Amino acid sequence: MTPKGTNLTWHGANVTNEERIAAVGQTGCVVWLTGLSASGKSTIARRAEQLLLERGYMVYVLDGDNIRMGLNKDLGFSPADRTENIRRIGEVAKLFADACVVTITAFISPYREDRDKVRAIMPEGTFLETWVDASVEVCEGRDPKGLYKKARAGQIPEFTGVSAPYEEPLAPELVLKSGEMDVEACALALLAHLQAKGFLPPRG
Ligand code: ADP
Repeated sequence: MTPKGTNLTWHGANVTNEERIAAVGQTGCVVWLTGLSASGKSTIARRAEQLLLERGYMVYVLDGDNIRMGLNKDLGFSPADRTENIRRIGEVAKLFADACVVTITAFISPYREDRDKVRAIMPEGTFLETWVDASVEVCEGRDPKGLYKKARAGQIPEFTGVSAPYEEPLAPELVLKSGEMDVEACALALLAHLQAKGFLPPRG
């Protein structure tokens, strides 16, 4: 998307990315959790955040409803609004990652193209698409917020997995089988992946 404003000049930092990473002691990245409602994105993100903080890493969770109550309170759930929701979150996540924060996002993000667009704005290798993979049946069985029940009753139009599509990732960096593994196992698998990719340098 071309900016609406004109006469804009990008203002760079006085330090290079390498200098920032060395000063902060870690490299930022975006762990992009995607999956159905109630698949466990928020729960896994919060547990992973806690484990990473305990280990001394800078980490922050961007979570669906929280962002929709603030930054994106002007957006609904139509396809166009869902796309704009993800675009803005992608830009925010990119800023957090640029500041060397391990950034975990927890959004359904049902459209493949929207996720790919976020991948495209991120530096190579720093976007970790993570599919929180549980079936509609499992998610509906959990239904912690009663949303599936409402959706089946026709009270929530365009509900992902019921009356709106979910496009499964084709080549995610990580798959967390949250219908089979418990929360702790999923969070630890996420940490193991970050470690394997070099995003968790040893802490003294
Ligand atoms: P989402 O953010 O994907 O909508 P939530 O994290 O809000 O999902 O809700 C998932 C629900 O499923 C929570 O009540 C959580 O305790 C439960 N749950 C059961 N098993 C798991 C698991 N393996 N991973 C994540 N959540 C799980």
